[in-house]
Amino acid sequence: MPQPLLTLTTRLPNTHRRILLSLLVLSLMILFWPTSSKPEKPLLTLMPVLLSASWTQLEPEHGWQQQMQQWQLALFPEPEPEVDESLTHYAIQSGDSLSRIFSRHGFSQQQLHQIMAADQSLLALDVLRPGHTLTFQRDEQNELLSMELFIHAGNRVLFQREADGEFSYQELLDEGEWYSQTLVGEIYGSFYLSAQRAGLNDAEIATVSQLFRDRVNFSRDIQAGARFQVIRSDNYVGEEATGQSRIEGIRLFNRRQQLTAFLHDNGQYYDAEGNSLQRAFMRVPLQREFRISSAFNPRRLHPVTRRVSPHNGTDFATPTGTPVLAAADGVVIRVENHPFAGRYIEIQHHGQYKTRYLHLDRTLVRNGQRVERGQRIALSGATGRVTGPHLHYELHVNNRPVNPMTANIPLAQPIPDEGRDAFFEKVAFMIQQMDEETLLAQKQ
Ligand SMILES: [Zn+2]
Repeated sequence: MPQPLLTLTTRLPNTHRRILLSLLVLSLMILFWPTSSKPEKPLLTLMPVLLSASWTQLEPEHGWQQQMQQWQLALFPEPEPEVDESLTHYAIQSGDSLSRIFSRHGFSQQQLHQIMAADQSLLALDVLRPGHTLTFQRDEQNELLSMELFIHAGNRVLFQREADGEFSYQELLDEGEWYSQTLVGEIYGSFYLSAQRAGLNDAEIATVSQLFRDRVNFSRDIQAGARFQVIRSDNYVGEEATGQSRIEGIRLFNRRQQLTAFLHDNGQYYDAEGNSLQRAFMRVPLQREFRISSAFNPRRLHPVTRRVSPHNGTDFATPTGTPVLAAADGVVIRVENHPFAGRYIEIQHHGQYKTRYLHLDRTLVRNGQRVERGQRIALSGATGRVTGPHLHYELHVNNRPVNPMTANIPLAQPIPDEGRDAFFEKVAFMIQQMDEETLLAQKQ
């Protein structure tokens, strides 16, 4: 710039002058900034460019704030996130086993064993899937300090080494938000394909057909063109979908019949009149009574470590070979072998129920199989870490273990008085939502 800056600035409009001044202040600040690293050099080379740009390009009325921001970003690039050398992230690949992941990261099989011990009451590590990630933290000796399992945005599990060298676990749950949408369709051909076209997934289609199966035969009684409406909620934590969904309400118009199902807060489905749509659960998944050798106890202290080590189920003193029955209708979602829980089965039931059967000697079902209430699914045993043969039975409602002996299980009875009004209010609201969606669909 040929002319001295000061004389120039007096001839400039106010805005320009202010900008020029602030640029000057900014550059002086940076020049004398007590820093060790990057910004200095790019700044020195950028200075003339910036100053000349302020003459030619600046429009006083618009855009200059953005321009300032851009320059600021050029001068002070966003600091790179600090890299914590003690942390290692690993994304689960299909076919991975924890044992292989541990040896690849240089952790011992003994540490794996300790982690599996901590996982006994949670059983989170048996179903590692692509999309899950593990984050390992090491100490100065390169030994495992903690491991975090990321299942989805709403569910992480932290395994941490305690002072005694054993690992503890902590489940980090975030319920997030549920957003509902109405799916509508008509049945031509099979219900399965028609429901799929409307946007329902396999599990949801199974839920619909099993809820109505005592009232309609889907392969015989459905009239072509029968209409259905389904309100489904999807779970989000922040912007991220967790992949969990649930059916809140269903209406099916077939011939002159109207079938309805609505999910109540207690995790069970009822029709619009409040009658139960679920067959009763068995309180005990056995053909006859056996002594309870250890009761459900969320605050049980570990006999050796004195740490809280919850007993998430009820133990029945069954001799090896005792038939184990499915507590209710559902789909087998796990048949696994765990060093501490032994051979075990997990069943997903309708509504928000899951059951687990541990320490089995033999399993009689496979993953993905549909089972009926009272169906023989296994023979009890003494696999895993046990002091003697028994059946460890767990009941989960909304992904939390509850006492199977006292929990409010589906009993195929009408809706309980408690929460009855709230249920009918919710039903009225959902029916309105379905009607609106149907009108919209007809207009299109
Ligand atoms: Zn047990």
